[in-house]
Amino acid sequence: MFGIRVLIYLAGIGLIVWILIRLAKNPRTEKKTAKPVDDMVRCARCGMFVPRHEAISDEERYYCCSQHRDEDR
Ligand SMILES: [Zn+2]
Repeated sequence: MFGIRVLIYLAGIGLIVWILIRLAKNPRTEKKTAKPVDDMVRCARCGMFVPRHEAISDEERYYCCSQHRDEDR
């Protein structure tokens, strides 16, 4: 019968849509926007704090710029 097939078809579509809506409303992926904390290191010459990745390291010391590194030698 044509009517029952249409009903089953619509029910199938409805089920798929319902599952998709549930998945969309319940995202498993947690948003983690926490950035890795960048340590601050202190210039051994002038005492200014600079992020570690921007600091110039010389053995165990850090400097804000290469000039201060050279001056501290
Ligand atoms: Zn400095």
